[in-house]
Amino acid sequence: MNLASKTKDIVSHFDFRFAKSLGQNFLVDNNVLTKIVDSAELDDTSCALEIGPGIGVLTQEMASRCKKVVAIEIDDRLIPILGETLSSYDNVEIVHSDALKVDFNKLFEEKGMDNIKVVANLPYYVTTPIINKIFKEAKGVKSITVMIQKEVAERLIAKPSTKDYGALTLLANYYSDVEKVVKAPPSCFIPNPKVESMVVKMNIKEPEVDVKDEKLFFRIIRDSFNMRRKTLLNSLKPVGLPSDKLKEAFAAAGIDEKRRGETLTIQEFAMLSNVIYEMM
Ligand code: SAM
Repeated sequence: MNLASKTKDIVSHFDFRFAKSLGQNFLVDNNVLTKIVDSAELDDTSCALEIGPGIGVLTQEMASRCKKVVAIEIDDRLIPILGETLSSYDNVEIVHSDALKVDFNKLFEEKGMDNIKVVANLPYYVTTPIINKIFKEAKGVKSITVMIQKEVAERLIAKPSTKDYGALTLLANYYSDVEKVVKAPPSCFIPNPKVESMVVKMNIKEPEVDVKDEKLFFRIIRDSFNMRRKTLLNSLKPVGLPSDKLKEAFAAAGIDEKRRGETLTIQEFAMLSNVIYEMM
């Protein structure tokens, strides 16, 4: 039976109603599903963390390829369904919780997870906060392979001086190398979302730029993109340095104060934030 019919059967058997507010668009395309799991490179030495297993289609495929899968699902109506669809897998644990509230490191320790790969068809309303949380908090994660809105994927892989380049691009590039995996049109899901989707893989790396204060670095990035039309000198006033000091900082970093944030590379943001850090 194909994935779409299987999903429709389960949904009708349990009389499950999709909750739009929880971003419930279940993946029903076998090719895309295989591409996600292939690109995550799961094997018997790795553990998978899934955010939002739904009725467990991705979960099953992952469980058959890796040591252990821990899947966090917020919707209590899905917990008994997952109990059935995953009953023949003894290496899967479902955590009934809001992924945004889970302490990932505690979870990894409690579940004895290592060599962790995050794999998910993410609920789109939490894409950015989830990615941010994993980058900034989760230790031991090797890669994040996720289905997300195509627009967001384009922001993750954007180049400087393009409309998609912004704080999210720099966040992703600081913590990872991002690669496109596959596009997924609305027909790959039940129900069909309104937007196109894309799978991207983020391979976690040690940052390649030397940043003295990460909080300040990301604050400067955020402020630089807050008002995209403003020059850097104007955008960065809220950082708290007087204008003359800020001008000195630009000169020391070798950056023209009239430039806009969207033209700066990650190396330039690192340089600028380090100079400002020394002056504060
Ligand atoms: N993995 C399934 C698939 O590919 O068909 C379902 C993906 S569906 C796009 C998103 C899933 O995330 C749903 O099961 C939804 O209930 C769950 N979800 C939504 N918000 C969540 C949250 N904050 N924490 C954990 N799970 C969440």
